[in-house]
Amino acid sequence: MLVGWYCTLREPGGLNVPFVATTLKMLKEADIVVIQSSDMVEFPISKSNLEYFTEGFPPAETSTKPGEVVSLTETSQTLRLLCAFVDRKPPPTLDDIDIDDLFLLAKAAEKYVVYNAITICRLKLSEHFSREFLSKNPKEILGFAAEYHYTDVITALYPILMDTPLTEIAAILPSTSRYFAHWSLQSFRWTDALVTAIRLGNDHNCQWWGNYVLQILRRLDKPSCLTQPHLRSIFRENVPNWQHTCCFAESSRWEQNINQLVNKIPKFSISIPKERDQADVQI
Ligand SMILES: [Zn+2]
Repeated sequence: MLVGWYCTLREPGGLNVPFVATTLKMLKEADIVVIQSSDMVEFPISKSNLEYFTEGFPPAETSTKPGEVVSLTETSQTLRLLCAFVDRKPPPTLDDIDIDDLFLLAKAAEKYVVYNAITICRLKLSEHFSREFLSKNPKEILGFAAEYHYTDVITALYPILMDTPLTEIAAILPSTSRYFAHWSLQSFRWTDALVTAIRLGNDHNCQWWGNYVLQILRRLDKPSCLTQPHLRSIFRENVPNWQHTCCFAESSRWEQNINQLVNKIPKFSISIPKERDQADVQI
């Protein structure tokens, strides 16, 4: 098919104009729709291929006059990748794609329901979603993951966003969704553990202990402080073991009790619905 070539033929600096003109004539005009990227690059695509391989792109019955262009918000780089999945040939494997480009492609694939691209992007994203990438823009990724039901990504984002107020999470996860219910429950567990952890520090009668407790409590100000290596740092930095051995022993007991408390918190998980639509069922 010529469609694969077409994605590059009409770009500035592409192949020579006479060749493009000749090639254009080889395709039936009635089967062509021209989409335009946000950076003004045009991609003529077969409407019947769009109909066959996608659900959200302009369908085959789209009425476009000759020369009429459908403008999209994605960049030419993303649309070029997406176009490779709208063709009657094996889809690209995306082996060398950058994670940022992969995420943008996945968003476009889900938005326009490009079946082959959705499948491959899901596989690739599950391999490459690193904590570093998730930390770059976790709220945007959480919104994407919730909208398209990437439950493993929502789970991976919890440690990164665990200190974010629920009012902000509710603006991303629909407050009636099962995702928000799971997230709220986990937040309650960690907040409850933080309150309990703070109370565990009052059980030592010594003239120096009060100062140590004060320094530690100043650092125990959010749920993520209970996770490692943060918790260990808080106790090591505020109760040096070469001073006041009674306080050091007490702080070790306190830290150990907090660790036991944290270990009882269930790992955050979201049950996967059998049907994608079930994830939106209200509770
Ligand atoms: Zn002491």
